[in-house]
Amino acid sequence: MLTLRHLHKTYANGVHATNDISLDIPTGLFGLLGPNGAGKSSLMRTIATLQTPDSGSIHFDGVDVLQNPQALRRQLGYLPQDFGVYPKVSALELLNHFAVLKGITQRGERKEMVEGLLHQTNLWDARHRAVHSYSGGMRQRFGIAQALLGAPRLVIVDEPTAGLDPDERNRFLNLLARIGEQVVVILSTHIVEDVTDLCPRMAIIAAGRVLVAGEPQAAIDTL
Ligand code: ADP
Ligand code: ADP
Repeated sequence: MLTLRHLHKTYANGVHATNDISLDIPTGLFGLLGPNGAGKSSLMRTIATLQTPDSGSIHFDGVDVLQNPQALRRQLGYLPQDFGVYPKVSALELLNHFAVLKGITQRGERKEMVEGLLHQTNLWDARHRAVHSYSGGMRQRFGIAQALLGAPRLVIVDEPTAGLDPDERNRFLNLLARIGEQVVVILSTHIVEDVTDLCPRMAIIAAGRVLVAGEPQAAIDTL
């Protein structure tokens, strides 16, 4: 469980990107829905400990994240928006390389994890192709494989479906829903159907505030 309480973040230009956000985010796929500029990326970066809030608290499985960011980072898989300028090496080599960077140094363990993730993300048949030659959907699935290295307990995915065709989008959301059977997965999106299709729980944010949170249809009906 991820618990956010009274988070505030104001940028140097005076924008209140996060304005008193409190949320309880349990295991499962959680949709963070909001228009462009709502503050989704800002909140994701704050949860990912890439920026600190001005005030408020974040707890993950009881641990105070702002006091102990390293504890969260070890448990975190993060796929930022617009991620990925990739070198011309195969997906298999690249994922293996990221696994080494992640500190998975034991060869057998690394091989098992990398191959497992390529299967899980349906990229096994394309493992010898360079990621930069992949379609948008394949790249996003590669991004998820990369984010899942080290078996994170919290996975954050920022606007991953923008630009995907319907087939790729469904495939991608189903992958996230399966991952959400085990861990906390936060999906940020401005597309209503992304959350109504597969997220058991969601929040709608606008101008840095939570408008409503809960089950998707009930939440949308209250607006
Ligand atoms: P600060 O406001 O802390 O001095 P900057 O204005 O230099 O920081 O911006 C830091 C980063 O945030 C840069 O990468 C910049 O491109 C990005 N950034 C700045 N303003 C915006 C904005 N309005 N929307 C999105 N990103 C922004
Ligand atoms: P979303 O992800 O929902 O599109 P963002 O979190 O990117 O929203 O942006 C929320 C607001 O904060 C916007 O007004 C944006 O311009 C502003 N913003 C985002 N990052 C920065 C930054 N680094 N510096 C200043 N303003 C920013």
